[in-house]
Amino acid sequence: MPDLLSFAARGLTGASWGAWILYFLATTQGTIVAVTLYLHRSQAHRGVQFHSAVAHLFRAWCWLSTGMVTRQWVAVHRKHHARCETAEDPHSPQVHGIRTVLWRGVDLYKAAAGNEVDLATYGVGTPKDWIERHLYERWSWLGPTLLAAISIVLFGVVGLALWALQMAWIPFWAAGVINGLGHWLGYRNFETPDTSANLVPWGLLIGGEELHNNHHAFPASARFSQRRFELDGGWLVICLLQRLGLAKVRRVASGLGYRAHIQEPDEETLRALLLQHARILHDYASGVIAPVLAQRPVGRRHLRRLRRALASGGRWLDPATRSELAAVVRTRRYLSDVCDFRDRLVDLTARNRRDMSTLAEELRRWCADAEASGIRVLVDFAAQLKGCRVVEQG
Ligand SMILES: [Zn+2]
Ligand SMILES: [Zn+2]
Repeated sequence: MPDLLSFAARGLTGASWGAWILYFLATTQGTIVAVTLYLHRSQAHRGVQFHSAVAHLFRAWCWLSTGMVTRQWVAVHRKHHARCETAEDPHSPQVHGIRTVLWRGVDLYKAAAGNEVDLATYGVGTPKDWIERHLYERWSWLGPTLLAAISIVLFGVVGLALWALQMAWIPFWAAGVINGLGHWLGYRNFETPDTSANLVPWGLLIGGEELHNNHHAFPASARFSQRRFELDGGWLVICLLQRLGLAKVRRVASGLGYRAHIQEPDEETLRALLLQHARILHDYASGVIAPVLAQRPVGRRHLRRLRRALASGGRWLDPATRSELAAVVRTRRYLSDVCDFRDRLVDLTARNRRDMSTLAEELRRWCADAEASGIRVLVDFAAQLKGCRVVEQG
C-alpha cells in the first residue's frame, strides 16, 4: 500500500521539483521547435526540408504533445497568409478582436480546422502515408492521452499537472500570443499589407515565431531574423541540423542594398522594388514621412502612433481616428505631398503583374516627380531608390 501511495505521489522516477521543471521546459520547447520547424517552416511554407528520420520524429512529437493534424494546421495557416486581416482570416485580431484571439485562439483554430473546402484548397502537399491516415489523423486525440499516461507513470500526480500545463502552454503561446499579439504589438521592419509585428527581437521563447512581421514579409524564408540584432532560435536549430546533414534549406529571404550614382532606375532597381517593396515602404516611412511629420513638436508617444498610422496610409484606423489623422496631415507643410507619393509607391509595388516596361516608365516618372518636388528628404529618397538592389543572403 505505501508503495502504491508513493508511486501515485512521485511516479516511477521519484524525481525532485528540479527534474519536473527540466522535463517541462524540455518538452514544451521540443513542441515549439517541432511546430515552428516542421509544421510551419517546412510543411506550410516549404522553406526547409528535413531528413525523413527528423521529419518522422517531429510528426510523432507533434501528435503526442498536441494532437494537431498536419494537414489541418497547414491549411489554417496558409489561409491566414492568403486572406490576412479579412473576414476569411481564421484568426485576425482586426476581425475577431484581440481578446478573442489571445484567450480563445484554440477555439478559432478548431473552428477553422474542420473546413473541408479549405483542407482541399490549402492543405495540399502534406503527408498522406499509412501512419498519417491510420494513426495521426484518425486517432489524433490518442497522442495527448498517451502523453498523459507517460507523465503519470514517470511523475505520479505531478505528472498529470505537468501534462495539463503542457496542453495549455502551446495553445497559449502559439494560437494566442503569436496569432493575436503578433498582429497587435511590437515593431515593424517591413510595411506589409497586414498588421503583423515583431514582438521582441530575440526569438528564443517561441522558437523565432516572435519575429512575425519579418515572417509575413518573406513567408517562404526558412530564417525569420532579418536585422543584426535579431535572433531566431528556430534558425539556429535548422543550422545545426543542416551541419549534421539532416536538413536542407530551400529559401532564405533576400536583403536590400544600394548602388551609388545610378542616374535612372534599371532592371536591378525594378527587381528590388518587386522583391523588397515591404522594406522600401518601411524605409520611406522612416526616411521621408517621419522627418516631415516631426517638423512641429509633438509628444513622443503620439508621434510614434502617428508615424505608424501614416506608414500604412491610416488603413487600420477607425473612421474617427482617420479623420483626426487627416487633420494632422493638414497642419504640416509637405506632409500631404509625401503621403501622396507614398500612395503612388504602394500602387507601383501592388501592380507587379503588369508588363515590366510600363512599370519601369512609372517608376522613372515617380523618381523624376520626387526629385522635382523640392522636398529634401524626398529628393534624397528618390536618388537612393534608383540605386537599390537585391542582396542574396545565405
Ligand atoms: Zn500572421
Ligand atoms: Zn507562416
